[in-house]
Formats: sequence, C-alpha cells, structure tokens
Amino acid sequence: MTDTIHGALVLFSGGQDSSVCLAWALQRYTRVETVGFDYGQRHAVELEARRVLREGLQRRFPMWAVRLGGDHMLDIKGFGAIGDTALTAERAIEITEKGLPSTYVPGRNLVFLTYAAALADRLGLKALVGGMCETDFSGYPDCRRRTMDAMETALELGMERAFPIKTPLMRLSKAETWALAKGLGGDELIELIRRDSHTCYLGQRDVEHDWGFGCGACPACELRANGWRDWVSAGRPALAPS
Ligand code: ZN
Repeated sequence: MTDTIHGALVLFSGGQDSSVCLAWALQRYTRVETVGFDYGQRHAVELEARRVLREGLQRRFPMWAVRLGGDHMLDIKGFGAIGDTALTAERAIEITEKGLPSTYVPGRNLVFLTYAAALADRLGLKALVGGMCETDFSGYPDCRRRTMDAMETALELGMERAFPIKTPLMRLSKAETWALAKGLGGDELIELIRRDSHTCYLGQRDVEHDWGFGCGACPACELRANGWRDWVSAGRPALAPS
C-alpha cells in the first residue's frame, strides 16, 4: 500500500441510503467515484435515479462537483440469476422461512464489495463506502459491521493492500439517516434525496408522497415512510457527520 492511494469508491444504487453515503464521501474525500451493479433488477428506474442524483449533486453543490469523478456500472447478471429472488424474478415480496424478505439475494454485499475492491484498485481509490446498516436492518446478515470487518480482512489478505470499508449509516435509524443528510447538505440535499432517490421495490414513481415517490405499500416504502415521519415529528433535526 502506498500513500498515493486515496479517495473513495461509493457503492451507489440511487436509493436513499447510498445517496446519503455519496454526499458523506464527497464531504470527506477529495476524489470520489461511484459504482453500481446490474444484477438483473427488474427496474430501469433505479438506474435512472443514479444518473439524476449524480447530476443533481453536481448542479446544486459546486464544492462537491469538483470532487465527483466517474460512474461505473458493473454487469453481474450471472450472480443475480443465482439469487432468483423477488428483485430479479417476477415473484411476490414476502417473508421467507428464514425471516428475511424474499428480496434478499444471499451474500449480495460480499459480491458487491469484492467487485468494488477490484475496481477501486484499478482506479487507485482507497476506501469503499456503502450504506449497509444494522439498525433498521431487515435481517440481512451481510449488512452487519462484523461482516464488513471480516470482509476488510479478506480483501486485504487477498489483494495485498488495505481496503477500509466505511459504513456511515451502520448505527443510524432511518430517521437519523435523514438527519445526517441535513447535516451534510441542508434542506437542499434533503429535497434532492427525497424527490430523486428511489427505494420502492416495485419500481413505482407515479405517486408522490411527503417522503418521496413509491407504491407506499412495499416493505421498502414502509421503512422509508416511517423514517421520514419520525424525522419530521422530531423537528427535522440535523446530524453532524462523524
Ligand atoms: Zn414501494
């Protein structure tokens, strides 16, 4: 590892969490690039959200625009085919016998991080930033900080350089994630993420709610709506980034 390696690669899906992570990284690192994964999701709307969010950040936050570099989309449809869950196949979202939503693709974050690390190495970027969160976590074992710690060790051993995995949302509730967004970019960032980030599992954007666009009924919309309401009823506080 050399000191010339710096900057961050953000795992960016165009959702609420990874959008806040991107803003967090832009405030912290002088060079930031983004990576997205096409694993055969049903919704082109997620890919569109990534583009709109990046452009919105560049337009509204000039100090971040100079730091934001390239966007990379990696095709991992072969992995998505193994998952074969509600996100990749036409199957209803339900809770499985393991207590996990059927949208869960087993080990997804392990695959994402391995691809991201290989790309970061090629790009000369040091840290990986992701929106994994174990607070509101829906039982996903690959979102735990312990998993991230183990992954850091595996990547360092396997690639002979350090890959710090930064997870700024790990201990935050969904309401606190909105507070962090406000702390990073004020009401302007809140409005950008509220309107343009996409979370709904069903890919719906025809109805606008106070918390953004979505079907309003799927588990992802429910989580997002509850977080927004908790944050608003707490007086829309701002949380300083740590
Ligand atoms: Zn929804």
